[in-house]
Amino acid sequence: MTKIAILPGDGIGPEIVAEAVKVLDCLRDEYGFAAELESAPVGGAGYDAAGQPLPDATLTLCREADAVLLGAVGGPQYDALPRELRPERGLLGLRSALQLFSNLRPAVLYPQLAGASSLKPEIVAGLDLMIVRELTGGIYFGQPRGIRERENGEREGYNTLVYAEHEIERIARSAFDVAMKRNKRLCSVDKANVLEVSELWREVMIRVSADYPEVELTHMYVDNASMQLVKWPKQFDVMVTKNMFGDILSDTAAMLTGSIGMLPSASLDASGKGMYEPIHGSAPDIAGQNRANPLATILSVAMMLRYSLGRPDLAERIELAVSAVLDQGLRTDDIADGGSSVSTADMGDAVVQALRNQEH
Ligand code: NAD
Repeated sequence: MTKIAILPGDGIGPEIVAEAVKVLDCLRDEYGFAAELESAPVGGAGYDAAGQPLPDATLTLCREADAVLLGAVGGPQYDALPRELRPERGLLGLRSALQLFSNLRPAVLYPQLAGASSLKPEIVAGLDLMIVRELTGGIYFGQPRGIRERENGEREGYNTLVYAEHEIERIARSAFDVAMKRNKRLCSVDKANVLEVSELWREVMIRVSADYPEVELTHMYVDNASMQLVKWPKQFDVMVTKNMFGDILSDTAAMLTGSIGMLPSASLDASGKGMYEPIHGSAPDIAGQNRANPLATILSVAMMLRYSLGRPDLAERIELAVSAVLDQGLRTDDIADGGSSVSTADMGDAVVQALRNQEH
């Protein structure tokens, strides 16, 4: 039976994850989805429960599970802790222990929310693109790194941008696999006109593309990609890029949609096992108020079904249910644009009801 590790985390984490669990329960009750859910603390909650942001029992559960659903971690009460005990360490520890090197960040703008974007509605309405970011290599991890003194006494900072061929190849395969599940168009973003690393990146992308003849591979320099993302984002289906470029471009893409409470994400290993979480944080400013938008977390469950659990049919049902509640005019505070809003729990209940109402 499929086993899903549930890590609510901190702040609004437990509230939004509770709604995602309602959706999973509905899939079990109504659609015969056989899954066992087991919860464990992480982040500040891990520290409170076991003195560590990633307790051993939580890591063991995540290793055994087929997929992990995470809420969010962090909160002001943990800010004074030493770095190694901070909540974010729990997340980083999970990413590295589970070798989650492929970060999938979709930017989807439901037409009903086109007004939330800072761009003109016709540019972004119906936007549906996916950025695949390499997550465990590149300049954020390359050695040597540091701050040193030159002979003349002046200090210099330095980092190393390095990718081994196998690292490029595995992110390439991950991105081509994603493209195969979408519209089969992949744009590889690099800086091959300046960086040798990017030359190799491009060469490996082209080599791997031979194994995916159905996918149309194109290349774009990162400076142009940043322009194109705000000029005509709907030209993209899947983009793949290295860690730092992906960090920057995925935030731009997320903001095209204007609604942080709507966006899920996935981090995958080489076998497709993954950790799924909303892109937003623990929102301590609204924690415990039943006001947070649970849709990013619910849509993270849809991604989990599509990318780790081999159930694209159920993923689509969830996405349709989310679209249906938006059609009904239901909005949490963050997407209400000053209009009336519903609570976290009401939004979750409405998605479950919409799921039940689907023909099956
Ligand atoms: P945040 O994403 O938590 O919040 C930013 C703003 O967006 C806040 O006004 C918040 O109320 C709002 N918001 C976020 N999610 C929302 C939702 N689902 N519904 C409605 N409104 C929502 O970012 P922050 O304030 O910079 O960070 C807060 C804490 O979260 C910090 O401790 C930070 O380290 C942590 N954090 C965790 C993650 C993660 O767990 N992956 C990511 C980012 C930040």
